[in-house]
Amino acid sequence: MKYERKTFPGGTHIIDYKGFTNSLETVAAEAPVRAYIPMSMHIGAPSRPLVEIGEEVKMGQKVAESQGFVSVPAHASVSGKVVAIHRMPIPNGRMVDTIVIENDFRDEWLTPLRQLPRDTVNAMDKAALQAKVLEAGVVGMGGATFPSHVKYVVPQDGKKVEVIILNGIECEPFLTADHRLMLEQPEKIISGLKYLLRMTDCQRGVIAIEENKMDAFELMIKLTENEPQIETVVCMEKYPQGSEKQLINAITGKEVPPGGLPIDVGVLVNNVATAAAIADAVEWEKPLIDRIVTLNGNAIKKPMNYRVRIGTLYEDLIAQSGGVIGETVKIISGGPMMGFAVYSTAIPVMKGTSGILVFNEESHVLKRETEGPCVRCARCVDACPMRLEPTTLMKAAKKSDWNRAKEYDITSCMECGCCSYVCPSMIPLVQYIRLAKQYVMSKDGNGAVNPFLV
Ligand code: SF4
Ligand code: SF4
Repeated sequence: MKYERKTFPGGTHIIDYKGFTNSLETVAAEAPVRAYIPMSMHIGAPSRPLVEIGEEVKMGQKVAESQGFVSVPAHASVSGKVVAIHRMPIPNGRMVDTIVIENDFRDEWLTPLRQLPRDTVNAMDKAALQAKVLEAGVVGMGGATFPSHVKYVVPQDGKKVEVIILNGIECEPFLTADHRLMLEQPEKIISGLKYLLRMTDCQRGVIAIEENKMDAFELMIKLTENEPQIETVVCMEKYPQGSEKQLINAITGKEVPPGGLPIDVGVLVNNVATAAAIADAVEWEKPLIDRIVTLNGNAIKKPMNYRVRIGTLYEDLIAQSGGVIGETVKIISGGPMMGFAVYSTAIPVMKGTSGILVFNEESHVLKRETEGPCVRCARCVDACPMRLEPTTLMKAAKKSDWNRAKEYDITSCMECGCCSYVCPSMIPLVQYIRLAKQYVMSKDGNGAVNPFLV
């Protein structure tokens, strides 16, 4: 059957490198000897520890409570004893208070997991559903880590939710965690979407999947054919198709205004993994204590999709996979386009960790030629999905010309990296722009010289 492929203006076609893991079933990773539970696995106020050193905890036990409205609790991903509470780095480099639990390998749940009776779930009103999402500590699992209950509790200042889009695009190369989830637990994703629709009185849900995952698309089409409120659509394989604003544009034709939110155009977007976590929270009262992570890259001996306990160290997961080949030259948390390069593997898997990529010196993915002069080809301009002029922004950044950078709307750059990817002169445009953007947005960004660029 032929399907209309939806997309957005701009962007670029990139090699997806998903073939290493997209057909591999998810494997349960070994539970860690020690689980490291950071207090900031979400956007917003950090969680506050509820446990003390020496205290015994059970699996699923709330070990930290939310502080304030934009915050979520954190839960033990293993049973055992709290042996430390100290600061340690998380994937973005920040130092964060972290609860360390020594695993007793009994996997004893605080409350044994059991599925709630269907009648009980059906009787939940909006407030009850939202409370389950908050209690389970669910956040956006596509990387944004925005607390999910906030998105759905506050709507919206009287704004109506016309459509909820589930993001199953996963356009970053190498990552296949969402793909596997859609193939292995599609019913859970659909249930999660139904709860989101109920929470917002919304009548239309769309599951959006990129065309390099047609097996998942066809499965979802089949499973939703008798769901009048739910539609499954296929999107063109193009980067950054999974970016929120670009996805909204592809599905609805609407543009989120600069500085605005999806709800301004009647849309809410959630990742498919978030929807599955919401179904777990509502139907099983299961807190978010594990997730699927893709381990990939040419230095990984055995690329794999793992279901990983939150708090497992990157190095433990890599060791389980047989370790690395050659000399590691780069480790990326997330995808290669928008993920973070990390300087240590002694950092924990968090709620937003979709992938860990490890590359050695043989990787052609990382090879870059020396930066050449701008030849004014305008390829970067054509590729920019935000309709910016990356070449102008780069030149403004190099001259520390903040007024020009602001005039050309540097703060609208979402750092997708399309401009760098297409530049024939190998200019690292996004790096220049990212530094300049941070400088413009900082309080010192008025007329000062950017110390990184002189
Ligand atoms: S793509 Fe590179 S060479 Fe072409 S205009 Fe942009 S910065 Fe210049
Ligand atoms: S300028 Fe920013 S938004 Fe535009 S292509 Fe470059 S990184 Fe992406």
